[in-house]
Amino acid sequence: MYCKICGNDRVITNLLGQSICKECIDEITRTSVFDETYDLYKNLIRILLGYYISEKHQLNPVN
Ligand SMILES: [Zn+2]
Repeated sequence: MYCKICGNDRVITNLLGQSICKECIDEITRTSVFDETYDLYKNLIRILLGYYISEKHQLNPVN
């Protein structure tokens, strides 16, 4: 499994159903709302959340 953000092949965790490495998780959690990368990670989380929600819909077609 490769990290969906940086492509690192030492993925150790799962964020919203996607494989994410510890380095990227650390980077996201360290990012302040005042950082230039904040908007980048905000959009990234929005995309991951979109995948996560659509996967749930596929699993529960009745809902
Ligand atoms: Zn990564």
